[in-house]
This record gives sequence, structure tokens and C-alpha cells, in this order.
Amino acid sequence: MADVDVLIIGGGINGCGIARDAVGRGYSVMLAEKDDLASGTSSWSTKLIHGGLRYLEHYEFRLVREALQEREVLWRMAPHIIWPLRFVLPHAKGLRPAWLLRTGLFLYDHLGGRKLLPPTRTLNLATDRTGAPLKGGFRRGFEYSDCWVEDSRLVALNARDAADRGATVLTRTRVTGLARTGDGWRATLQSPEGIRTVTARLVVNAAGPWVDDVLRTAAGRNDTRNVRLVQGSHIVVRKVFDHDRAYIFQNADGRIIFAIPYETDFTLIGTTDRDYTGDPGKVAITEEETAYLLAAASEYFVKEIRREDIVWTYSGVRPLYDDGASKAQEATRDYVLKLDGGESEAKLVNIFGGKITTYRRLAESVLEKIEGILGAKGKPWTGSVPLPGGDFPVEGFEGLVAALQASHPGVTPAVVRRLARAYGTKARDILGTARTDADLGRPFGAGLSEAEVRYLVDREFATSADDILWRRSKLGLRFDRSGLEALESYLSGRATGHAAHAAQ
Ligand code: FAD
Repeated sequence: MADVDVLIIGGGINGCGIARDAVGRGYSVMLAEKDDLASGTSSWSTKLIHGGLRYLEHYEFRLVREALQEREVLWRMAPHIIWPLRFVLPHAKGLRPAWLLRTGLFLYDHLGGRKLLPPTRTLNLATDRTGAPLKGGFRRGFEYSDCWVEDSRLVALNARDAADRGATVLTRTRVTGLARTGDGWRATLQSPEGIRTVTARLVVNAAGPWVDDVLRTAAGRNDTRNVRLVQGSHIVVRKVFDHDRAYIFQNADGRIIFAIPYETDFTLIGTTDRDYTGDPGKVAITEEETAYLLAAASEYFVKEIRREDIVWTYSGVRPLYDDGASKAQEATRDYVLKLDGGESEAKLVNIFGGKITTYRRLAESVLEKIEGILGAKGKPWTGSVPLPGGDFPVEGFEGLVAALQASHPGVTPAVVRRLARAYGTKARDILGTARTDADLGRPFGAGLSEAEVRYLVDREFATSADDILWRRSKLGLRFDRSGLEALESYLSGRATGHAAHAAQ
């Protein structure tokens, strides 16, 4: 008998979403991630739960409709880390005509079963406050709805929920070999603790940009080239405007960029689209991309955005299915599932493409394949069950903050609010019986306390300072060297303590 029904390779949003769905239906599941959860593409996105207005131009109606429908489903599942965001689209003379924008937004409003998100409205940018940071030439605009998501936290919460339901989630564990046995697979797993083998009835390859790499190196396929890597980069600058709405700007080359309020004090500007052929783990913003984003944003804002305004950049590659499109921005964003294995052979499900927005639907499609191979168990369930910490009313975030503050009146309000945003109702597990900030244990800076670090290590698979500062939170934007060193030494002390404890 195999060790598990399903072995999932990759702890990005797709792998973790599939793990949650599969274990909740009753399959035994193991997930192996070579690095940290969300250390691949799933922490490098623009962080939008969106239909993708521009994909309408490429006639991707199936994808846009499914994505639009998912906005409110996901918001309800995780109203702490997902929230509505209004986008301002200025009409620019000489670019897409106003009637085309209006038609696109009409479709956007009506394709996807919108119930809570407000509809599109027309703006007079000469009088609306969102017009103030923009150059004088932009007089007319449109405002429409999408949602924001803390992308890497969404991954961690899916992994946590999967583990709570019985899945084995292994980080820092690379799948280095895959071999068919009589009726299943034998996989080789490599981690800092050593090498081990695991048997599984079915394997899901959710390795994102590395999906072909897994096929080549672990499964021995030399002829594989299914994925088109398209680089996208972002810059983070000190805040350019002082309101809670985001902008979507059209550029003369037909592309669009976003400028989004980010982490209270910053503006996130991105993204680019360029083909990429290097190692996906080493991708970094290029000079050309930086110049492009600075110039594109400065076309619109009164304030020129300069290189010295940049406080952080990040870059990732979209693992798109290679549909032969000539331009990077035209390659399909839809996902494609490919089943590998003949009639009597064990099966491998390979995943190409996809978006964070559609991860739950992608998981349901993968589960249909799994059911066809291993036999059906359970029904689709993930859309109506909150993720950890998300069990409060969809529009009840301020109520949650007020309740947490009332039960912990001596804890700094900004700390309570940030914990509520990150952990939802689970913030109570961190706040415990704390009456003041000091009761949360050692402070590491930027509001990060020992109690939060302990929670992240014990409950969210964090092991390194980077996991905590850049993927479970974005406190890295505010951390200094001494805080970082203190956190690193605390974590290594804890790891040594654990090892000593385990050895006893
Ligand atoms: P990944 O997150 O890359 O996960 C794959 C994982 O597999 C990695 O963590 C990797 O370490 C692991 N792995 C690889 N090989 C092995 C192995 N041998 N053993 C074990 N583990 C292995 N989508 C949206 O919905 N909204 C957006 O706003 C948005 N913006 C984007 C902007 C940019 C610039 C980019 C690049 C993408 C954007 N996307 C967006 C798309 C979205 O980010 C991706 O589709 C999604 O994150 C892909 O998730 P994944 O799980 O397939 O891949």
C-alpha cells in the first residue's frame, strides 16, 4: 500500500490549494516544497484578486468570468487578508477610446455575479480627489472594483488548513526523483535532515515555473517544453498619493500598469511583461524595466517618480502555458492541466499557468482528475469554508479590530490592527492574555513581537527571518539591520533548543 494517495510537488498557491481541497475530501496528502511556502511566483504577484480587465481584449472570457466570480468567494473565505479595492482608470487621449473602456467595464460588472462589490462609475477627475495627484490633462476617468490579497499569506493559510485537516506539509524538501512502481510512484525527497523515499498513488506537479524542470530532472523527460516564462517586476516607492484607491494606467505601447496603495506608507507600481529564459529562482528587475515603470508612472502623476524614490523592488516569472502567442503579454493566463501516463500506468497531473485568483477553481479541476483516477471521495467544499482566521463576517473587519482592541486595551492600536489584518480571529492566539505590548514578549522592531514570531514558527511553517519578514508579513520594509540580527539569533536559538529537546 502506498504511503499517501496524493503527493503534491510545490508549495505555491496552486499546490497548497490542491492539498487543502484533496485532504478535505478524504484523500491522504503529502506536499513537498523545496524552499519556503510561497517562495516562488506566489509571493511576487501584483496581489490582485481580479478578473483581469485587459484579458477581455484577448477574448479570454472563460478565464475573466471565472476570475470575476472568485472575487467575492475568496473575499468571504478570508476577509482579513483579502479586501475590496477600487481602481481609477483615467481616460487618456489617443489611447483606448472612452466607449471601449465603458464597454469593457460594463462586461466586467456583469460577467461575474457581483453582489457586494460596488459597480463602475464615471469620474470627473477635475473635481474628484483621485484626480489631484494626476497631471492636468486627465479630466475623465472610470472607477471599478476588484480585490487585494496578501498573496503569500493566502498560501500559508491554505497550507495551515490542509495540515489541520491531516495533510503532511514539508517545507525545505525538494522532490529530486520520481519513478513509476507497479501501480503508483516512488518519490525521492531531499531535505536538510537527509534523503527519504515516499510512495504515492498519484503525483501532482504544481512546481510553477519549475514544472518542466521537475519533468526533466525528477521524471527524466528530456524533450519537455510546455511553459513560457514571462517576467514581471514591481517597484515600491514612498507613497505618491494619500487615498485608498488604486490606479490603472494605460501606456502608449498598449500595456497597462498599476499604482496601488501599499503597506500604509508606500505605493506599489508594476508590472512589466518580458520573456525570460534564465533560472526562475534568480530573476531580478532589469535596468530597462525600472526605467519603464518610472517613465510610465511619471506620465500620469504630477510628482515625477525618480529612481531615488524606490525603496524595494521585486520580480517574478509567470509560468504561462506556451500557446505560441508572439508577445509575452498576449500569452494565455488561463491554466492548463495535462495528464501524463498511459492506460495502465500511474498518473502524473501537470499544472501549467493560472492566477492566484483562480487557484481554488484550478484545485477543483485537479480534484476532478484525481477522482477519475483514484475514485471519487467528497464533493467540492472549499468555497464556503473560511480559511484560518477568516471566520468573521465578510464586511466585519472593523468590528473585529474593535473587539480585539476592547479585550486588549493596553496593546498599541496599530499593533492590534496589523495583527487583525494578518491573522483575523487567530490574532487572539497571539495576543493571548496580553495587557500591554510588553506582555507579547521580546520586541524585534516594527511591532514584531516574540509572541508573533512563535506563532509563525509553530503554526505557519516559518523557519527563517526572510520567511517572517517577507512572506508571512512585509515587515522587512521597516526592519533595520540590528532588528534582523536579533531575529536571526532568536530563531537559531529556538532551532537549537528544539533539536536538543528532540534529541532527549
Ligand atoms: P509557484 O508559486 O511558483 O509555486 C511553485 C513552487 O514549487 C515553488 O514554491 C517552488 O519552490 C516549488 N518547487 C519547484 N520545484 C520543486 C521541487 N523539485 N520539489 C519541491 N518543490 C518544488 N495572479 C493573480 O491572480 N493576480 C495578480 O495580481 C497576479 N500578478 C502577477 C504578477 C506577476 C509579476 C507574476 C509573475 C504573476 C502574477 N500572477 C497574478 C500570477 C500568479 O502569481 C501565479 O499564477 C501563481 O502564483 C502561480 O502559483 P504556483 O503555485 O503555480 O507557482
